[in-house]
Amino acid sequence: MVKRPPKDELRAVVDRLQVLFPTLYPVIFRRVKWPPGELGDCAVVLRKGKKKTLIRINANYDKYIQEVVLRHEYAHAMQERSEAQELRRERDHDAEYGVARGLIEWGLCEMALWQLEETAG
Ligand SMILES: [Zn+2]
Repeated sequence: MVKRPPKDELRAVVDRLQVLFPTLYPVIFRRVKWPPGELGDCAVVLRKGKKKTLIRINANYDKYIQEVVLRHEYAHAMQERSEAQELRRERDHDAEYGVARGLIEWGLCEMALWQLEETAG
């Protein structure tokens, strides 16, 4: 049996976001070693014949930057619609993107508060 590495903090953020804000396609999260300047990206990919949303983050930046980029890219994953609808989208960072960004910030803050309440008993 293959032993999986323990989940890291950013993967835990992705897991939380997938529960709070499910996306059209399940998210695959990868960190890649890109040159400076490349922050991250988000794209629909085919894996074993099924559509997934692949979010890639540059692992050469520190954890704070990686999480900011992750939140940015996850908002793109949340706004993903059918191919026909995406062709009509005027720009990537539209009002729908802004709503998704706001929901992410709200959701992660609320979840942190719930965890504090739980640990406080
Ligand atoms: Zn963007």
